[in-house]
Amino acid sequence: MTSRRDYYFPNTEPLAGDEMRVIALGTGRPFVRRAQANTSWLVELGNGDKFVFDFGSGSQSNFTALEIPHQDITAYFATHLHADHVGDFAQVWIGSWAGGRSKPLVVYGPSGPEPKYGIKHFVRLQMESLAWDAETRFGLLPDVGAEVEVHEFDYRQTSVVYEHNGVVIKSFPAVHIYDGPVSYRLEWNGLTFVFSGDTTPTRYFVDNAQNADLLIHECFNTVTQLMERSGYDEKMARGIGTMAHTAPEEAGRVLALVKPRLAVVYHFFNDFDTMPEIERDIRKHYQGPLALAQDLMVFNVTPAETRVRLAVTPTHVWPNKEHHASFRVASRRPRLQMSRWLADTQLFPKF
Ligand SMILES: [Zn+2]
Ligand SMILES: [Zn+2]
Repeated sequence: MTSRRDYYFPNTEPLAGDEMRVIALGTGRPFVRRAQANTSWLVELGNGDKFVFDFGSGSQSNFTALEIPHQDITAYFATHLHADHVGDFAQVWIGSWAGGRSKPLVVYGPSGPEPKYGIKHFVRLQMESLAWDAETRFGLLPDVGAEVEVHEFDYRQTSVVYEHNGVVIKSFPAVHIYDGPVSYRLEWNGLTFVFSGDTTPTRYFVDNAQNADLLIHECFNTVTQLMERSGYDEKMARGIGTMAHTAPEEAGRVLALVKPRLAVVYHFFNDFDTMPEIERDIRKHYQGPLALAQDLMVFNVTPAETRVRLAVTPTHVWPNKEHHASFRVASRRPRLQMSRWLADTQLFPKF
């Protein structure tokens, strides 16, 4: 019997040509806490592509802990524009640029029932609000890193929104509070990854999740947990836990309908004393392979096996120690010039 490591140590395991590795960068509820950031999932493929699905607040610190160069991310995909799914945009844009990205940022996301609810509008206004930030970095950082390529697609359609390098990513509608949210299905080299953003159980998901190797579905804390621990009355707890999101028992029903090779649930506070009740409710309907996600949980998927581990990561990591060659040579526009009266007050003049 070969020995198997229980933990994943980043940057020690090159992916095989037929392997997919998925890492949870954020699994919690909309409140950022040290144990769980907001929603984000990294998908790494054996062909070299890396995709980030959602970039909720706090999730980028888990990304940094993996010591993956920002330059290596192929594209970011947003499921919807709740802050717990896109709240780390500033880090994704500015952080990655300052951290060595010398190519445009690539972002995919849904339209909405009005232009102001679409990803294009979101990105444009986020960028505008960060004007001082971005423009004070020109001169030091490559101009190209400030560029964002936004691909907005129709949230109402079930359609392929990305197809490159053998990877096909399909978007389909999710049912979450209002029009606009979507979920995704990624297929590559015979492997299928399906990721629900926020959604209540919907036939769209069941239809589009068929034959999933790794299926990630949202699931909220139970109504009882929300009442006892979050101080909600029953109406509020039911509204959040069963109308805006999927309750554990219903998640179990969805998983039973799809029967993936490995099912993962996320979007709840996963504590040692909340997990048993959530698992019990899921197990009322689903008996297959299941993981209850926590941050930095790692899933390796090949045609032969699926593995679940936790990543061991440093807390005091220095990101991007090595810069891509293009970072140094890429063109830079002139820096902004500070007012002379302000610059002249320097005790040790640098300019
Ligand atoms: Zn949401
Ligand atoms: Zn959410």
